[in-house]
Amino acid sequence: MAFDPSSLRHLFPILSLQAYDHPLTYLDNAATTQKPLPVLDVIQDYYRNTNANVHRGAHFLSDRATNRFEQARDTVARFINAPEQSHIIWTKGATEAINMVAFGLEHLLEEGDEILITSLEHHANLVPWQQLAFRTGARLRVLPLTSKGEWESEFSHYFTDRTRIFAATQISNAIGTSTPLQTMLDNAKLQGAFTLVDGAQAVAHYPIDIQALDCDFYVFSGHKMYGPTGIGVLYGKSHALDVLLPCQTGGEMVRHVSYQATEFNVLPYRLEAGTPNIEGAIGLAAACDFLNIQDRPALLAWEQSLAAHVYFRLHKEGGIDIYSPEKNTTLVSLSVPNIHILDLNAYLDSQGIGVRAGSHCAHPLMAQLGVAGTLRASFACYNTLEEANRFCDVLLDAIDILGDE
Ligand code: PMP
Repeated sequence: MAFDPSSLRHLFPILSLQAYDHPLTYLDNAATTQKPLPVLDVIQDYYRNTNANVHRGAHFLSDRATNRFEQARDTVARFINAPEQSHIIWTKGATEAINMVAFGLEHLLEEGDEILITSLEHHANLVPWQQLAFRTGARLRVLPLTSKGEWESEFSHYFTDRTRIFAATQISNAIGTSTPLQTMLDNAKLQGAFTLVDGAQAVAHYPIDIQALDCDFYVFSGHKMYGPTGIGVLYGKSHALDVLLPCQTGGEMVRHVSYQATEFNVLPYRLEAGTPNIEGAIGLAAACDFLNIQDRPALLAWEQSLAAHVYFRLHKEGGIDIYSPEKNTTLVSLSVPNIHILDLNAYLDSQGIGVRAGSHCAHPLMAQLGVAGTLRASFACYNTLEEANRFCDVLLDAIDILGDE
């Protein structure tokens, strides 16, 4: 039997809101997902029953907070099949995690070294590398992938013996394309490059086995996988985390400090300066627990079927440029000739439908597609077929109305 989103929709109270007298239809899940009750409850419970600073005091609440915080690390480690808790570094999100790697590896880069990314990257996985290249004299190179995630040409020469870092997204946030990750990682590893995978758009949909993926670094944000904002993860293999210089220093990350020198703490604390986002970590663990008890293949199949349904309906209609793949994706990214995406967005919003219109933090990719931006509807496990159809109906109305103007 097909998955029924109503079986878990009641866990997301926000979805029963009205927006301007219409049922709220939330289709901006690639930007951030809504949070289920177990996540909301655990955050409230943390402040009601646990709140204290971690790793500090020897008192009842501090011990309790530390235990829950470290248990959360363990839950997240198991969620991605990391071999040990110490491989999980808490960050604010994917962006901070990538910046930590870009700054942390700077001391290993020399003029003429190469940093390789793909043409499907979010700015979060582009600008930190570009700036690192500026600072070190390294060269930023871009592996050209088509919007379908295929190689534009013979690609192996992009991986050279100067490639020190290879960073790629698992799934494009702008157009929903999956990248040929394993082949790319194999090529990068052959050259001895550090490898980083941006899993921001993957973790909510695909079970992640970090050991099978075998990259040096993997980053993601809690808020895109039903967890809170302000918390994310930098996973790293031991040898990769060991060589990262901390880009923030202060409390927590030290073992001993004198005016002359500082002895840094062991991992993971060495890379976690300051009081961490304790309730965020606990909330993210609750989001992992929420996903762990779901039938994940069924959720993914459902989300993909909604995107494929929208693709099929709009494609059949004609006159709409669709940039996302026909299937195996959870979002639809499109534009309509001669109608501004912001006008389409405003009409959809007036009917209570929340989507995203813009460049999706991917200016170079938009340039490659020849558009300033796209309109993106992105699906999560709680979205219904009625919502997918409502999006199509209202979009087609908008095209009728705005096309005539
Ligand atoms: N990478 C990708 C593919 C993303 O979709 C996003 C968020 N849109 C990021 C990185 C950055 O995530 P955050 O803003 O949560 O740090």
